[in-house]
Amino acid sequence: MQKMILIKYGELTTKKGNRNVFIKLLVKNIGSLLNNVDYKIKYDRVRMYIEADDIDLVINKLKNVFGIHSIVKCYKVNTNIEEIKSSLVELLSNISFNTFKVETNRADKDFEIPSMEFSRMMGAHILKNINCHVDVHHPDLLVKIEIRKEGTYIYTDEIMGLGGYPVGIQGKGLLMLSGGIDSPVAGYLSLKRGIDLECLYFESPPHTSLEAKNKVIKLASIINSYSGNIRVNVVPFTKLQEAIYKNVPDSYVITIMRRMMYRIASEVVKRHHLKVIINGESVGQVASQTLTSMVVINSVTNLPVIRPVACLDKLEIIDIAHKINTYETSILPFEDCCTIFLPKHPVINPILEKCIEYEQSFDYATLIEECLNNIETITNLEEEKSDLL
Ligand code: ATP
Ligand code: MG
Repeated sequence: MQKMILIKYGELTTKKGNRNVFIKLLVKNIGSLLNNVDYKIKYDRVRMYIEADDIDLVINKLKNVFGIHSIVKCYKVNTNIEEIKSSLVELLSNISFNTFKVETNRADKDFEIPSMEFSRMMGAHILKNINCHVDVHHPDLLVKIEIRKEGTYIYTDEIMGLGGYPVGIQGKGLLMLSGGIDSPVAGYLSLKRGIDLECLYFESPPHTSLEAKNKVIKLASIINSYSGNIRVNVVPFTKLQEAIYKNVPDSYVITIMRRMMYRIASEVVKRHHLKVIINGESVGQVASQTLTSMVVINSVTNLPVIRPVACLDKLEIIDIAHKINTYETSILPFEDCCTIFLPKHPVINPILEKCIEYEQSFDYATLIEECLNNIETITNLEEEKSDLL
């Protein structure tokens, strides 16, 4: 009996024409995650098989890979009835259960016994050798047997994978990553749709602290466990932000600041050959996220802006943040550039013409250029992570 991992693909199996591209990318993504592990991988159009010394370690890593429907620890035996019978008894003797059911999938149609009949035969053999009962409706243990050309696979335990598409199948987007709760969740949801990420963080030292920056890097490194390719671009935003506060009426500072952020993000997308902007905006959450604000802010760019949490409630977003382990870091109390000098009455329905008028009162283009030229790019998140916070 050979112990191995069987992987069932996620949604990618519905994309017929692209299936090979999806599978190859999935193999590559698994490869970069297992770069320090000894393993062998084989795949076809419906399944992937991995052999490794430390099966449990590999399974743990696979739980973070998008594009996987389920992960199964299985045993491969020769397609020989006596061998299958004795393997079943050996395997099930080590598991505690009262009731069971056998399900057979006969992918190899040359195998002469039909699935139902084979399940009954194997069930009878188990009943004869192990003290247990059959329950076809609610069994404690579901024993699955897959008969394929190259051998027969037996398993009892199927772990759900993350689903989604292999990361990178859609190219890369630029995630505006703040230290808050929403944007890391937005990043995770984008990765799930196959969009790989690069991050953009605006910092305003000395108004924002080094801890605030480290917090963002830590958040990036947490979501990087679903990608492996994420880098963080840190934009020195202080001068531009100070100019906004000096030249723009209080109620419009946030609107104008966000228009500047979008302008910078769009330029980074172009320079780094990315495809879209992604952020953690949620409709109605704050004044700058009313639909009118979004229209006025969004009008500085032609790029699509993806807002994965746009229609989620805060509680739904927090649920995901807990699940992906970003919540505890997100709630650390370090101020972000959006929360310093918050105006008392930010405009809820900004008027585009006013924005344009206020922006004409200072030379923001030069300040934006300066921001872009002084971006610090943090590439090795794994090394960074250990020293932070
Ligand atoms: P979050 O929305 O992530 O919880 P937040 O609530 O502090 O953080 P908002 O003021 O709601 O942020 O801003 C909306 C979105 O704008 C964020 O989700 C994020 O995508 C982006 N953003 C805000 N501040 C920054 C920043 N300093 N750097 C990069 N992106 C930012
Ligand atoms: Mg928010």
